[in-house]
Amino acid sequence: LAKSEGGGRVRFFEPAIAEEAKARLELKNNLKRAIEEKAFVLRYQPIVSMATGVAEHFEALVRWMRPDGMVPPDRFIPLAEETGLIIPIGRLVLDMAFARLRRWREEGSSIRLAINISRNQFQDEDFVEDLINRARAAEVDPATVVLEITESMIIADPQAAKVILGRLIVSGFRIAVDDFGVGYSSLSVLVEYPVHIVKLDKSLIKSLEYDVRARSMVSGFIALFQRLGLEVVAEGVETASQHEFLSLAGCDLAQGWLYGKPLPPEAASALGRAAAVRPDNAADDRDAAP
Ligand code: C2E
Ligand code: MG
Ligand code: MG
Ligand code: MG
Repeated sequence: LAKSEGGGRVRFFEPAIAEEAKARLELKNNLKRAIEEKAFVLRYQPIVSMATGVAEHFEALVRWMRPDGMVPPDRFIPLAEETGLIIPIGRLVLDMAFARLRRWREEGSSIRLAINISRNQFQDEDFVEDLINRARAAEVDPATVVLEITESMIIADPQAAKVILGRLIVSGFRIAVDDFGVGYSSLSVLVEYPVHIVKLDKSLIKSLEYDVRARSMVSGFIALFQRLGLEVVAEGVETASQHEFLSLAGCDLAQGWLYGKPLPPEAASALGRAAAVRPDNAADDRDAAP
């Protein structure tokens, strides 16, 4: 009996594994074609100043355009990283982001744009030179570009990271540490490495609602990072009470559904031009006036 059960399991699993391999191969081939066809677009999520409510900063977030709709990055970036396809995708992202920054400058706005850099790109030996060349070709001022990396990318090879970060900073780019507060979180990275911005991960912001210790941690981080001369961004701000807490804690910038979702470029331009985003009026379900 046991034997037949075992056989049953094998018969059950084999096709499943083959299915999965087939699906991955198909996804990989589709991604390759998407790169040739440049079938990616960027959405731009506002990052607002907590003091003024103005959206002077945006984060570029990639989407894959397919006939049946837009595919979010979580569904294709991991495979792109495993297969090396993230390198050409990353270059397309840089070109789109720089073209948009140039348009914004021509329209007279001084928007700063954050771009996510994958671990593979960061480790690619041509990365820094390629980035500088693309920025120059698009006539983009590196001071308006924020490169978002994660601590794990620094920790993977601290010596190499120091050299790369040094070259990027000398070239005028600004560096943000993304997703701080999950996984590898290491304060020494932020003390020892020359970064400009730290983004508190949305899981930390979420726990502000119900976790007293998270509240102490977040206000402590904000104070500490500011004393280190870093700008602090809170990610994933969804509620007015999170906004209020962060504002009282002196957080510099915030990003989340409360202020705006990732937008097509025209809508982002309009928001960037608008005098102020008023989070209190935007989506406050507590103090909503009748
Ligand atoms: P991330 O860099 O941490 O980006 C923030 C993610 O949080 C975005 O998801 C954004 O839409 C989402 N988000 C923003 N506000 C809120 C909120 O209030 N609540 C919730 N629940 N989520 C919020 P998205 O666009 O799906 O991107 C996911 C991840 O994919 C990004 O996380 C980033 O790691 C990666 N990614 C996106 N674009 C690129 C890219 O161009 N290159 C690379 N290498 N990675 C990218
Ligand atoms: Mg990011
Ligand atoms: Mg993040
Ligand atoms: Mg991330």
